[in-house]
Amino acid sequence: SRTAPGAPGPAAPGAPAVTVRVPAKVNAQLAVGGLRPDGFHDLANVFLAVGLYDEVTAEAAEAPGISVTVTGPDADQVPLDGTNLAVRAAELLAAHHGIEPRVRLRIAKDIPVAGGMAGGSADAAGALLACDTLWGTATPRAELLAICAELGSDVPFSLVGGAALGRGRGELLTPLAVGGVFHWVFAPADGGLSTPAVYRECDRLRTASGTGATSADVPDPEPSGPLLAALAAGDTPALAAALTSGPAGTSNDLQAAALSLRPSLARTLAAGAAAGALAALVSGSGPTTAFLAASADGAERLAAALRSSGTCRTARVATSPAAGAAVTGAGG
Ligand code: ATP
Repeated sequence: SRTAPGAPGPAAPGAPAVTVRVPAKVNAQLAVGGLRPDGFHDLANVFLAVGLYDEVTAEAAEAPGISVTVTGPDADQVPLDGTNLAVRAAELLAAHHGIEPRVRLRIAKDIPVAGGMAGGSADAAGALLACDTLWGTATPRAELLAICAELGSDVPFSLVGGAALGRGRGELLTPLAVGGVFHWVFAPADGGLSTPAVYRECDRLRTASGTGATSADVPDPEPSGPLLAALAAGDTPALAAALTSGPAGTSNDLQAAALSLRPSLARTLAAGAAAGALAALVSGSGPTTAFLAASADGAERLAAALRSSGTCRTARVATSPAAGAAVTGAGG
């Protein structure tokens, strides 16, 4: 195979390609505060990286500019223009260093698109790390995280992985300890849900119920103590209890809004619960649903039951926590 030394500086033809693997996420808790004047919501967001991955490859290009190709089952739903988050990441990194971007990006997409699992954010974080490595720009971690936050609220977490508490709109991260492996099943739905639309529906439901939707009406979001303790202890039954506690029976404040926009998700949640899931919830803004299992075997059985339930497109097993964006390959 053709290889070339990874010389620093702008990529020249024949320079290596760099592949980065990036995980999806599930929100173990998503506490949503009131609507802020800037249109965002304050969050207490307990992120868990899960072992479903996109791979982003950055390859040296002869011509200046950024091109992108996407492969995978949902590839047709991903934009290939300047709105692709991986392209925006490469642009921002080049601008940060005052260099001309010159790269071919290839995304091997396995994370459901618009599924509430931060697939676009994963690609942004992956492209950032892949281009930084390809271009030899050696961006300090703090600067990479700042560029991530500019790209989107969930992008910093895609870079760091593991488990973290996100405050602000989710971008201010504190790493969390996780004392064991958790077994999950994820059931992607047909078609995505727009995250902004789900937040708007959350505000609408709050207003309609007479509680109001602004920061003045809604209490500040706080992480759940029992949930953080369950993660730290690696205690699956305790995590299941924390995922389904609270007045609405879920740790996800966007769940009611996702169900309101996509009522059929209630059947998927019920099918998972009937098949023995220890907890069933909507992943982030949905429509992917997430189910906690007691073991790897339990997760396989649950996935099989969900697949044959006819209430979801498919069902995938994955464990958490998973490592953040990492270079897995470099070569010509
Ligand atoms: P989150 O959980 O962070 O709210 P999500 O998983 O619900 O995000 P994404 O898969 O990130 O949603 O995609 C949201 C939208 O972003 C898509 O509908 C798509 O149009 C756009 N998008 C831009 N770049 C990408 C990308 N590289 N991969 C997937 N979607 C992208």
